[in-house]
Amino acid sequence: MALGQEVDHLINQILLKAENQHELLIGSCQSGVKLTNTQEHILMLLSQENLTNSDLAKRLNVSQAAVTKAVKSLVKQEMLEPIKDKDDARVTYFSLTEAAKPVAKEHEHHHAMTLSVYDRLLETFSKEEQAIVNRFLKALTKELEG
Ligand code: ZN
Ligand code: ZN
Repeated sequence: MALGQEVDHLINQILLKAENQHELLIGSCQSGVKLTNTQEHILMLLSQENLTNSDLAKRLNVSQAAVTKAVKSLVKQEMLEPIKDKDDARVTYFSLTEAAKPVAKEHEHHHAMTLSVYDRLLETFSKEEQAIVNRFLKALTKELEG
């Protein structure tokens, strides 16, 4: 296959794998609960700091409506507890329940695992080859953003 076609094929494979997900992780989820990647990612972010729905929307690069829906479902599944801000009752934060804490940890670990897969693959290339891969990725990223 021509190299251009290989790139096209790879990108379409990624889209297929990431269907309805906001991210692509390598390997299967080990949390044992039925949550979407987005919901697990929300639990991970909230385990690290206090964020409102609009903060989460910005972090995830999705609409506020999508975040509200995901958070509502997490509250219903007893993964999150809404907490009103002490100084401003209009602001709601969410805290993880005991059941949610291991899920957040697993998701964090899944991200680290995914990165280590990429690192392992890249280690099979020489420094010179890695520089070329890097140059290609930078050029493609620029094209996609443009
Ligand atoms: Zn997971
Ligand atoms: Zn994630």
